[in-house]
Amino acid sequence: MQSVAIVGGGISGLSAAYFLEKHAREAGAELSIQLIESRPRLGGVIVTERSGGFVLEGGPDSFFTQKPAAIELCRALGLADQLIPSNDHRRKTYVLQQGKLEELPEGMFFLVPTKVLPVFRSRLLSVTGKLRLMLEPFQSRLRGQEDFSVSDFVSHRLGRQVLERIAEPLLSAVYGANVDSLSARAVLPQLLALEEKHGSLWRGIRQARRAQAKHGATGSPGSLFMSLRNGIGDIIQSLETSLTNTRVTTGKKVAKVLRDNPRSAFRLLCPDGELQAEALILATPAYAAGELLQEMDGRLAGKLEEIPYHSTVTVSLGFDEKKFGRTLDGFGFIVPRGEGKKLLACTWVSTKFSFRCPPGRVLLRGFLGGARDPAAITESDDRIIETTLRELRETMGVQAEPLFTRIHRWEKSMPQYSVGHPRRLEEIGTLVSKHPGLFLSGNGYRGIGMPDCIASSSTAASAALHYLQSLR
Ligand SMILES: Cc1cc2nc3c(=O)[nH]c(=O)nc-3n(C[C@H](O)[C@H](O)[C@H](O)COP(=O)(O)OP(=O)(O)OC[C@H]3O[C@@H](n4cnc5c(N)ncnc54)[C@H](O)[C@@H]3O)c2cc1C
Repeated sequence: MQSVAIVGGGISGLSAAYFLEKHAREAGAELSIQLIESRPRLGGVIVTERSGGFVLEGGPDSFFTQKPAAIELCRALGLADQLIPSNDHRRKTYVLQQGKLEELPEGMFFLVPTKVLPVFRSRLLSVTGKLRLMLEPFQSRLRGQEDFSVSDFVSHRLGRQVLERIAEPLLSAVYGANVDSLSARAVLPQLLALEEKHGSLWRGIRQARRAQAKHGATGSPGSLFMSLRNGIGDIIQSLETSLTNTRVTTGKKVAKVLRDNPRSAFRLLCPDGELQAEALILATPAYAAGELLQEMDGRLAGKLEEIPYHSTVTVSLGFDEKKFGRTLDGFGFIVPRGEGKKLLACTWVSTKFSFRCPPGRVLLRGFLGGARDPAAITESDDRIIETTLRELRETMGVQAEPLFTRIHRWEKSMPQYSVGHPRRLEEIGTLVSKHPGLFLSGNGYRGIGMPDCIASSSTAASAALHYLQSLR
């Protein structure tokens, strides 16, 4: 029987196994699949904990609906009735601006404020910032460079204030990223495509909306984010249960991958011996794939290790609503780097996903670390809680003591798609193609969100099956 090994048991590795089983069943192919995960549990950065009526997410808490792979997988796993949208009628995001929370103007398209009136009413941008934003349609394209930073792109098109007060804090919250070195081509491809086609983001967005209306879109864009009623962890459990033909091993770290020649089986060296497989999907962070491949192909390993990863810390805090002393009108706030805080963002979970919090309680989740504060992950629990509470007091006026706190540390978990990332991916693709049967999936390459990881694993699984069929 032909064999496939998958290294990594996060959403990428598990969905690779799921798609392999599915495609093999459909093709009538018999495969021996094994998945190896170094941690004692599956899920990677996905962890849901339930306690006292609270549903606490240690890692991701929802997925973006514009990319359908996560929703489709949930449906296929029988979780359709568990899918639940964020409370969009209460969707407001605030930005800390000179110590005060100011609302993001209504009508944002990615990082771009698109509605003139809300922009003029907003206190987030100064008059100069607003006028500069209105000049967007008259800006020329950034030319002469293959790739450029998000900073350069956004400040050139939309002005410095949009960069500093909107784009930088939003991307810090999502990617833990430094916008000065983040690749515009890798992270904002939709905006670059609009610019290329229409010469202006505003014109492009307006035309896209008009086309949508013309083609019968209802005007109700639906929820931007979806989650699972009992927590994102349910997708991991359901994936695990659905795998009927995959040998899953946890608590085993693959130390290295070797291959005697391009037609022979891959040899996975583990502390307790060696595994062999004809096809191999590495569904680990890129640097971990690099470590594994060091001996087999030093150049490929070097390229994979060039993709930097930042660490991040999440802090969940539960409060008694009566003592909280503040109503929460929105989904939370983001913090521009100029504000000099450790907090990158804070989600008001009890508003965004009210079912995660029992009645009479308030649930918040703070984010620290990222490129802005690499040392955050090494701080003691006491220090992290003290910093978080102090900054919640300063930003939101929260005086109450929390009923509980829960910290999750994620070391080297957030890839940074730095300038040149698209070219690096091409080079990685060329090097990988010299090793027939080797496939990469995960958050280091073509998108960091869960839907991107699932889509990349679906592609890797199809390619692996196709490769095995070609050997017959
Ligand atoms: C705090 C946080 C919040 C996030 N929020 C969201 C969100 O709301 N929505 C969203 O869509 N995305 C979010 N993301 C991003 C998304 O969750 C991740 O990009 C995605 O889950 C990564 O999955 P993965 O399987 O590729 O990697 P991982 O989850 O990192 O899994 C890789 C696995 O490989 C294993 N491994 C590594 N090396 C070896 C080895 N040598 N041998 C065996 N096993 C190995 C690791 O132990 C790990 O379990 C968030 C990420 C974080 C950290």
